[in-house]
Amino acid sequence: DSWDERVGVAVVGLGRIAIDEMLPAFQRSKHAKVVALVTGDRDKGLKVARQYNIPESAVLDYKDYDKLAQMPDVKSVYIALPNHLHLEYTVRAARAGKHVLCEKPMANTAAECRQMIDACRKAGRQLMIAYRSQYEALDRTLVKMVREKKLGALKEFNSVNSQNMGDPQHWRLKKALAGGGALPDIGIYCINAARFLSGEEPSEVFGSIWSTPGDARFREVEESCQFVLRFPSGFSATCSTNYSAHKSQMFRLNGFEAWADMDPAYAYHGNKLRITRVVDGKDQTTEIPAGKTNQFTLMIDHFASCIQQNKDVHTPGEEGLQDQRIMDAIYESARSGRVVKL
Ligand code: NDP
Repeated sequence: DSWDERVGVAVVGLGRIAIDEMLPAFQRSKHAKVVALVTGDRDKGLKVARQYNIPESAVLDYKDYDKLAQMPDVKSVYIALPNHLHLEYTVRAARAGKHVLCEKPMANTAAECRQMIDACRKAGRQLMIAYRSQYEALDRTLVKMVREKKLGALKEFNSVNSQNMGDPQHWRLKKALAGGGALPDIGIYCINAARFLSGEEPSEVFGSIWSTPGDARFREVEESCQFVLRFPSGFSATCSTNYSAHKSQMFRLNGFEAWADMDPAYAYHGNKLRITRVVDGKDQTTEIPAGKTNQFTLMIDHFASCIQQNKDVHTPGEEGLQDQRIMDAIYESARSGRVVKL
């Protein structure tokens, strides 16, 4: 698209994901352009603005957020704030007439997710959750293979998404800011992948959480969570997520006739997909070539073209709400020691 036709975006919160991945991806996008920044750190904002040719007048503080309503160039916001702020900044954006691309997890509770969906619906604006894996070319290839029954009937999904958290003061380790620990931050990728790969919704969950006693990082939120999602067809997802382990982000999707391995599965770059099937009585493995375009750019282009063409987005608020309902059920199961029906 020409520069004028592109969807103008205000990036809200200049942290790791915004600076390292999304701003460069917006620059590569064909349909979107960053035209404003919202930050509590004006010096950082001005530096980023210079780097991306954004006028100084379009660098706003959070207290000036509602002024976006008077900036017609800004058609949408991208919210990259800590989880507890997603609700407020989505609702205010919708009231200002802006479409919203919001980071995962959508919010801290299912009730907050519902408020976000309602606010955007009332304002007639799109709400999309930044489930980048659903835009990764390898995942899209795998979904197509599954739908074409290339793996046979799906039976099992096994996935680990773990990393090591350092600073005990980080907002991700504060319950009020993060909503929980490893589960909503990284375990959510396993839940979302089990759902979008199978195209099925779980009917019951069983879960358990653990924190090492005395570890200052895990006073408020869980260190690790293990859970099983059971789906009506008999497909199941068995997953583990840990905030205190060497980085590991993989899954195996096992069908009646073949399996798919992704390792890494949830990385920003360099994901790898292999398919193994029996040929002449022996396992034969094929590696699927990686896509040319990065998942962040594909996600942004999808969001912007849906706005331009007034089409529904692929990962709307309802998608975030469903993952939140499942996470709530996992926590309830961990508390009660019982299987929880959805
Ligand atoms: P960071 O801590 O790196 O950045 C968050 C930014 O939010 C800060 O830099 C700050 O920006 C702003 N902010 C406003 N209020 C606060 C506050 N009270 N405490 C801390 N920061 C505040 O986080 P991430 O970039 O890693 O994560 C942001 C969101 O993106 C989260 O929801 C996270 O789950 C999600 N995320 C998604 C990923 C994905 O792959 N889809 C990967 C990583 C994160 P400023 O200084 O400009 O005001």
